[in-house]
Amino acid sequence: MSYFKGLQCSMCQKEFAAEALYVCDSCLGPLEAVYDSDAIRRDLSREVIESRQPNLWRYREFLPIDGQPQTGFFSGFTPLVRANRLAEELGMEELYLKDDSVNHPSLSYKDRVVSVAASRAIELGVKVFGCASTGNLGNSVAAHAARLGLECYVFIPQDLEPGKIVGSAVCGPHVVGIDGNYDDVNRLCTQVGDRYGWGFANINLRAYYAEGAKTYGFEIVEGLGWKFPKHLVCPVAGGTLLPRIRRGFREMREAGLVEGDLPKIHAAQANGCAPVVTALERDLDHPEPVKPNTIAKSIAIGNPADGFHVLETVRKTGGAGASVSDAEIIECIKLLARTEGIFTEPAGGTTLAATIQLIKRGVIPKDESLVVCITGNGYKTADVMTEHIQKPSSLGRTLQEFEDFIDSQNKHHLEGAG
Ligand SMILES: *Cc1c(COP(=O)(O)O)cnc(C)c1O
Ligand SMILES: [Zn+2]
Repeated sequence: MSYFKGLQCSMCQKEFAAEALYVCDSCLGPLEAVYDSDAIRRDLSREVIESRQPNLWRYREFLPIDGQPQTGFFSGFTPLVRANRLAEELGMEELYLKDDSVNHPSLSYKDRVVSVAASRAIELGVKVFGCASTGNLGNSVAAHAARLGLECYVFIPQDLEPGKIVGSAVCGPHVVGIDGNYDDVNRLCTQVGDRYGWGFANINLRAYYAEGAKTYGFEIVEGLGWKFPKHLVCPVAGGTLLPRIRRGFREMREAGLVEGDLPKIHAAQANGCAPVVTALERDLDHPEPVKPNTIAKSIAIGNPADGFHVLETVRKTGGAGASVSDAEIIECIKLLARTEGIFTEPAGGTTLAATIQLIKRGVIPKDESLVVCITGNGYKTADVMTEHIQKPSSLGRTLQEFEDFIDSQNKHHLEGAG
């Protein structure tokens, strides 16, 4: 039995059958999935969820498919790490990292949204599965399409990091590099989807895709022992994840799975692409598009599709925005690795740097619990760090050379200390 009822316009509430539609034909508002919430409250409990397999489908009553999941059997259920060494550096009492850098199979939060969009694409009879991507989405779409045997097109801006391009291409999709930025790629893909009837995960399948992001929030609550944290800091690109974390929290509370106040949800962006943070500062209802220029390429979206929702969510929860420089991003990638052994990509560095700024500003008090969203993996963008790490020591192969090396190091230390 499915609890998924159909789609509804999030602006004018008009109802639609669950097809590959993504905007309302009356007001152009985005469509969202609707569920039978009474039935969910009646049938679902913490015990039922806990008895299921450790993947994102353990919350399937809240996900928009009719039949059985098709993919994502190892996606989601990523670690919620209590980060004590990092907490100590920041002077925080209770700090957690929700670590989607180890999501299966493509090492970012995108494996959640794609598991759901791909499963729904199969139900809708989609023949070609694709996406407009800043890198991680392409990796995930290519991976899930490969295991499902779907023909696949990944559209990207031409100047992506090599690791991100290889990560898609190795799965055998058509990778199409466009001479332009992400927003140009997105515009083209919207036209291609209309013309050819292909299913684009984040465009005409967006209503399904977005629902997968709720599972990031569900897992945080379950991981904290069915509790909300006080604060959560989330990176923003197209704006799917941040509002869906709140939506997931509210649905869980409505279903009686958790009680209490929702966390304050804060938005993190890079200075070189901060339309949402700027709109928060200027009190705008809609972000003004910008031309991205930052090393945080996976979140470099100048015209976020769900920007309006992000602003509304941050404001309604009492959150704030913070944007940070590329230098701070690099420093925070190193800080996270040095304290917790987690190597994240620039998006994660952005989120941690924004967190530190919010703590310094007093927006996040040191005695309130905090979850920092780590959404991508640093091994994909290792090139970014080449100039910023300590080079390996280079020695010959004799013990004598090593002893000389250690002596010189110790001498260094002594001189430094003196
Ligand atoms: C896509 C992505 C995000 C967030 O994207 P939204 O479009 O705002 O949901 C965050 N971090 C990484 C690493 C990503 O790839
Ligand atoms: Zn509408």
